[in-house]
Amino acid sequence: MTDTIAAIATPPATGAIGIIRLSGSRAREVADRIFFPLCGKLLSECPPRSAQFGTIVDFNGVILDQALALTFAAPKSYTGEDSVELQCHGGLRLLDRVLALCFAAGARQALPGEFTRRAFLNGRLDLSAAEAVADLIHAETAEGVENAAAQLSGRLSDELSSIYNILLDLTSHFTAYIDYTDEGVEPPDLSGAEADCRDAAARLTRLASSFADGRLFTEGVRTAIVGKPNAGKSSLLNALVGFERSIVTDLAGTTRDTVEESVRVGSVILRLIDTAGIREDAETVERLGIERTREATKHAGLVIAVFDASAALSDADREVLALLEACEAPVIAVCNKNDLEWRLDRTASPLFADAVILSAATGEGLEDLKARIAQTLSAERVRHDGSVITNRRQAEALSRAAEAAQNAADALAAGFTPDIAWVDAEAALSAIGEVTGQTVNEEILDRVFERFCVGK
Ligand code: GDP
Repeated sequence: MTDTIAAIATPPATGAIGIIRLSGSRAREVADRIFFPLCGKLLSECPPRSAQFGTIVDFNGVILDQALALTFAAPKSYTGEDSVELQCHGGLRLLDRVLALCFAAGARQALPGEFTRRAFLNGRLDLSAAEAVADLIHAETAEGVENAAAQLSGRLSDELSSIYNILLDLTSHFTAYIDYTDEGVEPPDLSGAEADCRDAAARLTRLASSFADGRLFTEGVRTAIVGKPNAGKSSLLNALVGFERSIVTDLAGTTRDTVEESVRVGSVILRLIDTAGIREDAETVERLGIERTREATKHAGLVIAVFDASAALSDADREVLALLEACEAPVIAVCNKNDLEWRLDRTASPLFADAVILSAATGEGLEDLKARIAQTLSAERVRHDGSVITNRRQAEALSRAAEAAQNAADALAAGFTPDIAWVDAEAALSAIGEVTGQTVNEEILDRVFERFCVGK
């Protein structure tokens, strides 16, 4: 018996329809107290998986709405429990009142992601599919949607369970070998074990490293916009983001704190970091800015270096160029202010040869920059069929699993006894289990589900 949870599942905004979800062993009982089907029966007497039209009435007999109720009987529901969805009209006050009625009738407020958490705990989906639900909801690109939908349909779960089963099979062979006592029986054959471990390690490595691609359409690529003060970094950031996010001024060096903004550029999400500019006559604050710029380029997956095309190359520009030489991330040079008369000497650095020429002020050339970003990050070749990991937690667990499987293979190759390989194979299983949910603790679950909205 589980307690019955209720939540408004639609966004907190006025809309045509607003949905209230109930789940738990008393879901239909709660609904019976507030929803009255037109057919005259109680909702709990109507067949599950049917839609009933009726009225929502408070305990004083006041009609609050005409609504549609969908009922689901355990285990055939999203959560695996008895569930009811009330499709009301989408008024905020109305939904608040209906929800309060649900509470008065015996339900309690659902926590973020609690419906999906119950679905996971009841075996309706594995943890990777549960995370795909959150990815699907939060997806900001068409590719992100398709990848998450494919994972929700089992693409990742299937691959993981296939690797899991191979390793599980191996551990049972290892156990049999370890337990084997010579009683005239042949010892278990371990001849294929090393190859199996290597194969599992390779598949796990492929999955873990696919995060480098998958993050393009979920958490995004950390992108540093660098350049001397007044080159137009904030203007470019605003032009890319599409609204006035950071304060743009004529005073050199006014963007002193780094600001971070997520922006969708085609199929890619960029996490843009605007840094305080690099300046030769550095006062303390600006010095901090330079350090920040250095730090930003160090940790960036992409650097966009902005130069002012309307000014001759300055020492500050040279400082930026020197910084770029030492930078590991791919660099896109931008010659900004193309709407003004050119004074920048394009032969001053080889970086300028294929610089993107644009005007952050007029927007001209912005599309070229977007195309260059996609090209630089090889966004076009990234698959979005559910085969790439889009989540750092999963990638981290899978690379631990890959390493453990590799260790198992190496132990076998080195001729160690199977108990050594067994320990590694078990470690690999446990790490895969953190992704599928077979071996997770409450803390991991809390972290996974806090990403969800209330009502999901
Ligand atoms: P930051 O210090 O590098 O962030 O530079 P800002 O974005 O604050 O821009 C500095 C000044 O240059 C502001 O007055 C902007 O309006 C101006 N500016 C930026 N981009 C352009 C551009 O493409 N053309 C022109 N004419 N002015 C620009």
